[in-house]
Amino acid sequence: MSKVSGNLFVIAAPSGAGKSSMIQALLKRHPDNSMQVSVSTTTRKPRPGEVEGEHYYFVDEKSFIEQAEKGDFYEYAKVFTHYYGTSRHVIEDTLASGVDVFLDIDWQGTRQVKAAYPGVHTIFILPPSNAELERRLRTRGQDSEEVIAERMSKAQAEMKHYSEFSYLIVNENFDDSVDKLEHIVLSQRQRRSKQQIRHREILHDLLAE
Ligand code: 5GP
Repeated sequence: MSKVSGNLFVIAAPSGAGKSSMIQALLKRHPDNSMQVSVSTTTRKPRPGEVEGEHYYFVDEKSFIEQAEKGDFYEYAKVFTHYYGTSRHVIEDTLASGVDVFLDIDWQGTRQVKAAYPGVHTIFILPPSNAELERRLRTRGQDSEEVIAERMSKAQAEMKHYSEFSYLIVNENFDDSVDKLEHIVLSQRQRRSKQQIRHREILHDLLAE
């Protein structure tokens, strides 16, 4: 079997839609290391429980801008108040090794990735309603009304871009949504263009007569 490059996916959502949990659940279903989430670099401070190199690479603004100027980022954007960027060499090396890569990035980064890599598969995850989104944002912590209102308005700003994505998942039931995400991801592996490379010998033998 010949080596087939991995598929690139962007998975975007407003905060509170359940994106990170869905991605983690999908990775757990596939412990064969055939899919990975790209770890971004950011200038925001770590939140409690966040681990350097696992959730993000945390850097200051000066070193972020230096990396951006060197062309180290596949895409980068200022998302509200902080910079976030996707490492170029990790994406390229991981895809080349045959592993599927998930980018958990915002709509601005998605536009850049679509321009640089037209074969990317873009998925947007929505909550079932604004009321449910607000409920999920509230149960996250003891935040003030002001913080909740700000999160809701950021979520609205992100959701306005849903139509720039090829796939939509409305996350009403968590397990069903993970199933849907898994179907999208796994179906890309069966594309003829990939299968022709993967099964070159079988195809050759089948058509040898
Ligand atoms: P948070 O600070 O809550 O982890 O992420 C805030 C937003 O930044 C989310 O919408 C997330 O998807 C986005 N984000 C995270 N990493 C990147 C990245 O590397 N590039 C871009 N463009 N957005 C990112």
